[in-house]
Amino acid sequence: MSTFTVLNPATEQAVASVPASSAEQADEAISRAAAAQPGWRAVAPGERASLLRRFADVVDAHNEELAQLEVTGTGHPVGQARWEAGNVAAVLRYYSAGPERLLGQQIPVPGGLNVTFKEPVGIVGLIVPWNFPMPILGWGLGPALAAGNPVIAKPAERTPLTAIRIGELALEAGLPEGVFQVLPGKGSVVGQRLVDHELVRKIVFTGSTEVGSKLMADCARQVKRVTLELGGKSANIVFADADLEQAAATAPYAVFDNAGQDCCARSRILVERSVFDRFMELLEPAVLGVAVGDPGDPGTEMGPLISAEHRARVASYVPDGAPVAFRGQAPAGPGYWYPPTVLAPVGADDPALTEEVFGPVVTVVPVEDEAEAIRIANDTPYGLSGSIWTRDIGRALRVARAVETGNLSVNSHASVRYWTPFGGFKQSGLGRELGPDALDAFTEVKNVFIATE
Ligand code: NAD
Repeated sequence: MSTFTVLNPATEQAVASVPASSAEQADEAISRAAAAQPGWRAVAPGERASLLRRFADVVDAHNEELAQLEVTGTGHPVGQARWEAGNVAAVLRYYSAGPERLLGQQIPVPGGLNVTFKEPVGIVGLIVPWNFPMPILGWGLGPALAAGNPVIAKPAERTPLTAIRIGELALEAGLPEGVFQVLPGKGSVVGQRLVDHELVRKIVFTGSTEVGSKLMADCARQVKRVTLELGGKSANIVFADADLEQAAATAPYAVFDNAGQDCCARSRILVERSVFDRFMELLEPAVLGVAVGDPGDPGTEMGPLISAEHRARVASYVPDGAPVAFRGQAPAGPGYWYPPTVLAPVGADDPALTEEVFGPVVTVVPVEDEAEAIRIANDTPYGLSGSIWTRDIGRALRVARAVETGNLSVNSHASVRYWTPFGGFKQSGLGRELGPDALDAFTEVKNVFIATE
């Protein structure tokens, strides 16, 4: 059996060796899920709700253990990793309200009555990327289980440790065997098998636009339901009337959090020209102040990149002679470190401005006015996230409506809140996760007419 070696990105040391599942093992997992499906669906709604709450409690009880696994297995700063484990529990708890609220409709029709039911969609294949292994697992897992579906999760090759542990915790919490399984393995083997197998009725994929669009085509062959959360190139638009101090002080965290390995990273800062110089003056100390270092230190704000290959890819966006306005610090020595880097001025076709870097590199661009800000913000195939900084509420709403993106924050850099829908416009994805309507993505509406005449 082949195995993956999980490396600590901060030390380059091996942390664990994880068996890579085969396509046959994926088939066996799918058979187990199919066997578990009728029982899980039949669990009374209140009991399913309390199982999800118990699962959340067990995850919370292991918060520190999960956080430490993420620190060593992905290089996430420990404060962030604790939040991520907490987010899994919070999302499970949020959707534990779902089973008892899967309401249908009664619709007036001639000759009888019509009722609708929300039926579980069936086995869900959850394909997770390496950048946020715990939260992204939780966002699919919570509503899928709440709606009565078995779930098979395939974590990313480099970052399977927390998902494997959360799978064990599900059993400890009392979820029946086969209801939630974690299958580490290669995307092209295990992930692809989940996509191709007829008994898997829904794929929830988070990852690159390249792989996501291929999976969408593959899913189309079986008219398989699919939700896609893909890449991003989000704009952070700062108008002259904004609280510039606050906008500049927080802008580094909007792009350098998770070392920029964030689909919501605001990696283009568009600043109204009249305040551009002042904004850059304020941005410099904020960038230099980002604490980059040992992920195990609670004071650390930014850790290393995930791998040597990824660091080389990120570095390719900052070739010799690139217009580096200023950059922060990064440790020397072992680890896949890359310093927070600010590029300005950049040409309109600079790949750092037009492509998803997925690293701690941001471009800052002056814009003349609102119209130009909107035009540049929308000049990308992506549309995931973004921020607007202004004190003019009318402008905030006007620009928010004009920017073609799924998630916007005004005078804030918040991206994902589990109470609200999350997902992308254009090539950033298809469908929405989180929020009160996420259960709809894991149910099919059944419409039943009962004749009364
Ligand atoms: P990736 O597309 O390479 O891999 C994502 C997952 O898909 C992994 O588990 C991988 O093993 C699996 N996979 C790969 N090939 C497959 C195949 N043929 N069939 C089935 N599964 C397959 O992405 P990545 O490099 O892990 O993640 C980075 C990307 O994810 C970035 O583009 C980022 O923007 C995006 N992302 C998006 C969101 C969002 O919510 N929109 C969130 C996080 C990351």
